[in-house]
Amino acid sequence: MTKINRRNFLRTGAAGAASIMASTGGAFAMFPSSKGPSDIIYRTLGKTGIRLPVVSMGVMRADNPSLVRACLDNGIIHFDTANGYQRGRNEKMLGDVFRDYDRSSIIVATKVKPEGVDQRTGLPGDATTAEDFLMKFEESMQRLQMDYVDILYLHSVSSVEMVNHREITRAMKNLKKEGRVKYIGISTHTNEPEVIDAMVKAGFWDVVLSRYNFTLSYLDKLEESIKRAAESGIGVVAMKTMSGGFLDRERTKPIDAVAALKWALQNENICTTIPGMTSFDMLEEDLKVLTDINMTDDEMKKILIASGEPGLFCTSCNNCLEKCTGSLPVPDLMRAYMYAYGYVNMEKAYSLLSELGTGPDPCAGCSECTIDNCTKQFDIRSKITDISRLVNVPVDFIT
Ligand code: SF4
Ligand code: SF4
Repeated sequence: MTKINRRNFLRTGAAGAASIMASTGGAFAMFPSSKGPSDIIYRTLGKTGIRLPVVSMGVMRADNPSLVRACLDNGIIHFDTANGYQRGRNEKMLGDVFRDYDRSSIIVATKVKPEGVDQRTGLPGDATTAEDFLMKFEESMQRLQMDYVDILYLHSVSSVEMVNHREITRAMKNLKKEGRVKYIGISTHTNEPEVIDAMVKAGFWDVVLSRYNFTLSYLDKLEESIKRAAESGIGVVAMKTMSGGFLDRERTKPIDAVAALKWALQNENICTTIPGMTSFDMLEEDLKVLTDINMTDDEMKKILIASGEPGLFCTSCNNCLEKCTGSLPVPDLMRAYMYAYGYVNMEKAYSLLSELGTGPDPCAGCSECTIDNCTKQFDIRSKITDISRLVNVPVDFIT
């Protein structure tokens, strides 16, 4: 496969940029790969009927429009962003890029996170209203500069109550009726099996974006729920497939991206994956999976070894919650830790910590924790103490 980097994008890409307006299909020559577009593996996104390549772009941390164009040039057509990513800059960047393309050739998904949801219980509060939800949706549409989005997710749902939140679900259904949203869905990275089962029961959801990777301790349960969702016609998109990206805080032990993506795609109920991409090297890795999802013995071995290590990824099994004498949202704090050290995404870690409101030293004065508090044997106290220092950094310094 030809090496993809900024330099050869500029060399081969600039001249052809005008030709990519009509469709993504005509632009493959920009980044010739060893296999052509006809080799791309597609799956159907449930009852939506949309055919998607098995690899899509998680845009969350990306800030380079050339990388988005390179994805399109290589057959990736589905882009996943959110109202809250990069304080809106992420949606704006996508909107600016997509202005030059045929809108119907691109599948855009965004997410809106309702206010007032209790981080620990996932339950709605007084501030969880349709009015706030719609205000944020309009903000997203303005940034994206589009008449419609293909998929609108209710962002970060962890309770059955939010799956069935009357006001917000009604607002989302109305947006679908009005044609401003083609399909409605939920994104979930805590209590996924319960959330997905509730979506199946509710009957009106089109798509679920679920955490799915080889480190999850309740994988069997999650896979059963995903199967029920797929059988009911809900399209399933997998996120967090890289399990934090690294196994250690120092980032010396990377998780093999190709093996992790392929592992997720062995589950045929998963339509597509949204690996976060921030560089051309990452794109190049992910493109290998676009046309080949068969796992080699070596890749299987890598997954086996990685799954035996604690890593940075908290599975949100919640086993630590009742043991925490300070009633802290430990899994969310572990997630902030992973954002900072695994993804080097300080902005995301900072904004999550700000939402949690747990302050600069939540474990001060408590020494109750042992590594047995955590299923993965994390030293929870030291991780919380470490990551919580971030809230003392002035927001202007966080990028
Ligand atoms: S050290 Fe922190 S996480 Fe552990 S029990 Fe105490 S408050 Fe909870
Ligand atoms: S910190 Fe450990 S026990 Fe708590 S949710 Fe995460 S993996 Fe489970």
